[in-house]
Amino acid sequence: MSRIITRFAPSPNGWLHAGHAFSALFAHDFAQRQGGTFLLRIEDIDFTRARPEYVQGIFDDLRWLGLHWPQPVRFQQPHVATYCRALRELQRLGVLYPCHCTRRRLRQKTDAPGWPHDPDGAPVYPGLCRTDAVAKDDAPCARLGEWPLREPLPPAWRLNMHKALVLAERRLGRSLSWHEEGTGPAGEQGTVHANAERWGDVILGRRDIGASYHVAVVIDDALQGITHVTRGQDLFHATAIHRLLQVLLELPEPIYVHHRLITDEEGRKLSKSAGDTALRHLRANGMTPEHLRQLLGASPPS
Ligand code: GLU
Repeated sequence: MSRIITRFAPSPNGWLHAGHAFSALFAHDFAQRQGGTFLLRIEDIDFTRARPEYVQGIFDDLRWLGLHWPQPVRFQQPHVATYCRALRELQRLGVLYPCHCTRRRLRQKTDAPGWPHDPDGAPVYPGLCRTDAVAKDDAPCARLGEWPLREPLPPAWRLNMHKALVLAERRLGRSLSWHEEGTGPAGEQGTVHANAERWGDVILGRRDIGASYHVAVVIDDALQGITHVTRGQDLFHATAIHRLLQVLLELPEPIYVHHRLITDEEGRKLSKSAGDTALRHLRANGMTPEHLRQLLGASPPS
């Protein structure tokens, strides 16, 4: 097996909290235990939310935790053209279509009782703009850099999920799956069936930032040679979308290692606004990295 490479890939749109610390330690220790490499990636593709003070906060918090990573750190904003090329490839394959639906128009459909929801709880797209015709006039990212956006709005770009799955499974010669070395929320392990269909026609090209998280993450994992994608179980179901994109874009398949989530006293996942568990707050109140490791149940690699 090739040398193990893991990554911690936070988005700089809030302060890191105890859940991020667990995730970073998990990725770091996983690599270190096996003589591998731990990388840090700053997922700042959403420039409308990313802030430089949060980037600095990530560096400060992770150093305080005692982590080290090779330089240079990969940021996403300088690579938007690469993600846009991937969108154009999906368009060429006939699995991406422009979508001009407004939120209001969508709600008129999806507010209906019993409307299906995706694993993140959002209503599944009703397919209003879905078409097999390859768009001639529109290209993903055509008006990128125009900010704030002016009317008429550029389209969003959606994956034709059904068509994409048929194409991917034809290429693979079997149904879409991934290899899970951690555990999913329902105890899933080993070969996991990638149920991408339940996400519906997800947005991959965004009006404001060009490409979505899903596109950027699979490109970056491939370009950085990530062998083991370690991350929280909140992203477990999204892995189906990532596997699908990897097959369509002919990217290598990493192993996935999803880990448990750190929750608050009421059992809720910590959010970026969870002030009390922000690492900078814990630090200022005298917490030590050793004690935090203990509280999180993340003992250092021996
Ligand atoms: N940037 C994502 C986040 O902060 C994590 C992406 C990943 O680990 O795949 O939630």
